Amino acid sequence: MTPPDTSPRVLSFADAMRLVLSHATGAPRPPDRFESVSLLASQGRVLAAPIVADRAQPPFNRSARDGFAARASGWAAGSWLRIAGQVRAGQDGGAAPIHPGDAVEIMTGAPVPGGADCVVMVEHAIAQQGRVRLAEGRVAQSGENIVPEGAEARLGEALVAAGTRMAAAEIAAAASAGCASPLVFARPRVAIIPTGDELVELDQPPLPHQIRNSNSYALAAQVAAAGGEPVRLPIAGDSLEVLLGAIRSARGCDLMLLSGGVSMGKYDLVEEALVSLGADFFFTGVRMQPGKPVVFGRLPASPDHAALYFFGLPGNPVSTQVTFRLFARPLLEALCGAAVLPPPFVQATLSMPVQAKPGLTRFLPGFINHDLLRPAVSLVQWQGSGDQAAHARANCYLVIPPDAEQIAPGSIVTVLLR
Ligand code: AMP
Ligand code: MG
Repeated sequence: MTPPDTSPRVLSFADAMRLVLSHATGAPRPPDRFESVSLLASQGRVLAAPIVADRAQPPFNRSARDGFAARASGWAAGSWLRIAGQVRAGQDGGAAPIHPGDAVEIMTGAPVPGGADCVVMVEHAIAQQGRVRLAEGRVAQSGENIVPEGAEARLGEALVAAGTRMAAAEIAAAASAGCASPLVFARPRVAIIPTGDELVELDQPPLPHQIRNSNSYALAAQVAAAGGEPVRLPIAGDSLEVLLGAIRSARGCDLMLLSGGVSMGKYDLVEEALVSLGADFFFTGVRMQPGKPVVFGRLPASPDHAALYFFGLPGNPVSTQVTFRLFARPLLEALCGAAVLPPPFVQATLSMPVQAKPGLTRFLPGFINHDLLRPAVSLVQWQGSGDQAAHARANCYLVIPPDAEQIAPGSIVTVLLR
């Protein structure tokens, strides 16, 4: 067996992103772990089996408008048709087939009676004394305003594909097919290991030199939002022994996130611990800011455990959350069984001048106004990647490419949504 390659591997942001996405695409899916959950509890979960139409949709030729159903070929401009009856949504049995020369008043959602092949909307018709004609300049066209039986889905056809994340539209489609308990993949379990001798838990009053462990909470929230099950492990101090124990206790999870301890400091021992366990490193740094020391790799399979992907995320809270969003989340979504997508980048107009030092791709806390016509983004004032208050005032990150030095207001820029 060749020993794992542990030489430093610092990539550009674009290369690091590509590498993560290619691992995500090839990552093992959770094929044999699924469960049925109640329809509303399926929100945010990933379908393990398609939602299938239990009958044709629509189940009958459905009128898309309030109006008059008739045979188009027999309805010339200026000619009057007799209104033979009315059919409403939910009317049992619909209306009897219509006779040539007749029309039926019909409501949106009602079954179109046999013999009719068009619905002329009420706004385009003139009805008087039991008769109806086309309004000036209107013609009746075969098929208009009718959604034919099965046009949306045939019996047995998939309404929502496996691998889709359930949200309102998918839940509605499942409800329309009577699916009260969809089959979804089990949530991947994601171990979260905070490292640092300075850290204390929330129930412990911090001494002046101590810092509360907020990263475990940020990551747990991010993991849950992505569809994973966070497993918060105890704070690991900055000693090799303790780190090794923490990493061992994460085996059996589907993904491992460590925060802190990946910089160049004397007590940054996370990489050393992973090396001693035979880890493969795909990158050991990315030319980006915040988040430069981020590490991505995989522990080899052992007799007891499958291989385990891990991210060593820098400890500064903004760095932790940015690097999770960019790198860990796409891989986690793949482990959830969902389609692999790059992070949500959009474009907006920059509303202030920005200076940057070239060489690094930067992700600066920003605020995007989501304007309908001209979404604009500005920077949030901050004190660097430890500034949690500024980070909480932001709703996105302004992405500054590595070759930019000055960006003028009015420029179109890329924004990473959260
Ligand atoms: P490190 O990446 O270990 O060098 O830590 C960088 C900075 O992030 C230091 O100021 C740490 O105190 C802080 N930090 C590390 N881990 C956490 C955590 N779990 N919660 C909040 N801050 C942290
Ligand atoms: Mg540390």
